[in-house]
Amino acid sequence: MLGPVVVSRAAIESMLDRLAAEIESDLGGRSPVFIGVLKGCVFFFTDLVKRIRRSVDMDFIQVSSYGASTTSSGSVVLVKDITVDVRDRDVYLVEDIVDTGTTLTDVIRLIEARHPRTIQVVALLSKPSRRQVEVEIAFLGTEIEDRFVIGYGLDFDERYRNLPEIHELVPE
Ligand code: 5GP
Repeated sequence: MLGPVVVSRAAIESMLDRLAAEIESDLGGRSPVFIGVLKGCVFFFTDLVKRIRRSVDMDFIQVSSYGASTTSSGSVVLVKDITVDVRDRDVYLVEDIVDTGTTLTDVIRLIEARHPRTIQVVALLSKPSRRQVEVEIAFLGTEIEDRFVIGYGLDFDERYRNLPEIHELVPE
């Protein structure tokens, strides 16, 4: 069931402002492609790109995730591929949460096969204590402890994604 708030709406807003500013100063004169990892990225992605005051290309990729479990299955299946040509482009890969790092590593591999010029990870949350595969997060909202969180795009068995803030999921 729905547990306490882990990241409030106000905290999310200030992270979004900071991340957008960091990304804007990183952009320089480049024309980037933002790729969101569905479905968990949905609110983070849209709230973030709306704060970037220039034209950016947008696309989405979806890989299979946890299903009804709260621990990683350890391998991903491509569900929806990107359609934008990323060759020689600067890619910002937008992810909700980095846990073991498996998903992101596989997604990066899929996108690298299309020869972007650069690929940088933008993640709202990271659970460093759970990491099994090292992944570089260029732009991070905040680290959290090892607890299962829901809301602001994050689900448990497709539920709770719509909550405006991030809660801990606690046993019934
Ligand atoms: P990883 O491959 O890094 O272990 O897992 C990444 C994916 O697992 C995330 O994109 C997300 O879909 C899911 N995930 C990991 N931790 C959590 C969590 O605390 N809450 C929810 N709802 N999903 C999580």
